[in-house]
Amino acid sequence: MHELMVRERDGTTERLPARPGASVGSVLLSARIPPPSVVVIADGSPVSADHRIDPDRSYEARLLEGYDLDRIRSAFDPVGDDAAHVDRRLTFGETGGLDSSTTARSLDDHQAAVEARLLDTIRHFDLISEGESLVLGASGGLDSSALLRGLAAIRDDLPTFDLTAVTVADFIPVEDARSSADIAEMVESLGFDHRFVESETIADTYGLTDTPTAAMRALEATDHAPTLGSLAPNVNQRMLERVAEEVGADAILTGVHTTELLGGILNEWFTGATVRRQSIPEHSLGPYAYRYPLVFLSKRELFLYRYGKTGQTLRDRTENPWDWLADEQSFHYYLADMLQALWPGVEHWVVESHNARVAAVDHPPTDRCDNCGKVKPAPDFDSTGRCPVCSAFDSVGLLVDSD
Ligand SMILES: [Zn+2]
Repeated sequence: MHELMVRERDGTTERLPARPGASVGSVLLSARIPPPSVVVIADGSPVSADHRIDPDRSYEARLLEGYDLDRIRSAFDPVGDDAAHVDRRLTFGETGGLDSSTTARSLDDHQAAVEARLLDTIRHFDLISEGESLVLGASGGLDSSALLRGLAAIRDDLPTFDLTAVTVADFIPVEDARSSADIAEMVESLGFDHRFVESETIADTYGLTDTPTAAMRALEATDHAPTLGSLAPNVNQRMLERVAEEVGADAILTGVHTTELLGGILNEWFTGATVRRQSIPEHSLGPYAYRYPLVFLSKRELFLYRYGKTGQTLRDRTENPWDWLADEQSFHYYLADMLQALWPGVEHWVVESHNARVAAVDHPPTDRCDNCGKVKPAPDFDSTGRCPVCSAFDSVGLLVDSD
């Protein structure tokens, strides 16, 4: 093994093992050193982070910033080789120092920890009040199934509530349940009510001249194709709102997890969009209250939770094409996942700072779509008063009252 000598600003040095052929950047990153603040000199000349280690040359890296690398690395000391999950969290102490906690958990311990965090989130943010009636979108996917199972498990520790889980036709990912009957059975076995929203109800809500699936397929062949990943959830949301009106629900629960939360906030940072200029994990949209009890749980934690509960592993997915994330959204999710890997627990201060910013700005007014009735921030509507979904359906002549 070759080596790369790292010289810190105080003159101390460290030798990093460097496999010949490995890039300089990967050697630095594996030692948790960020390449943008390092210059690497090979035999007197600077080389890029892409340079591959040559065993015949000698390398010296100089840190241009002064970090407490030892403290950061110690927070990532590996623990519990046999654990199913390691729960790690880095926070700033009151004096600005770094506090870290690391807990290695078995599958059983992990299930208890997930339920404890769900209970903490619901209690801390007052997400369920005595006697409330709630609607939950149950696609049969990992997130909503984990939320249903979690709520059932901690039900005795929560205020009394009624819950109707809603499955919307045509938007069932095949990963977790093969049919709406499977979902209904799972929901009812957990002691909750289940409702299925038929394709006809969607077509009726939107005034479609064809089935919703046919409408999505028609849009695939148009300029709207890249936006289908966000149109489908909008349709789903509208149908949840419709059921919420019918059953007189106080709030809609969704299975938004940490990566979705961070990805959405990154999108807002990058684009200045007002989409999420709303508090987390509860906000209102017109007459509807949306609540996100899973925002402090990652996809991996949810997967392990379900696996522990049911033994269900991953299935090959045969998804609808519109279930794929649009490029931009997938990049936001990637960055959100990497942020969590680099700094476990980052979501806790992101939520706090987000809520502080939200409290300081004026919210755009909301309005209802003239066609489907979806409530959205007013700037989202086109000049004819239609929401982006209805506007897209209209562009391919699929609305009953298309021009
Ligand atoms: Zn609409």
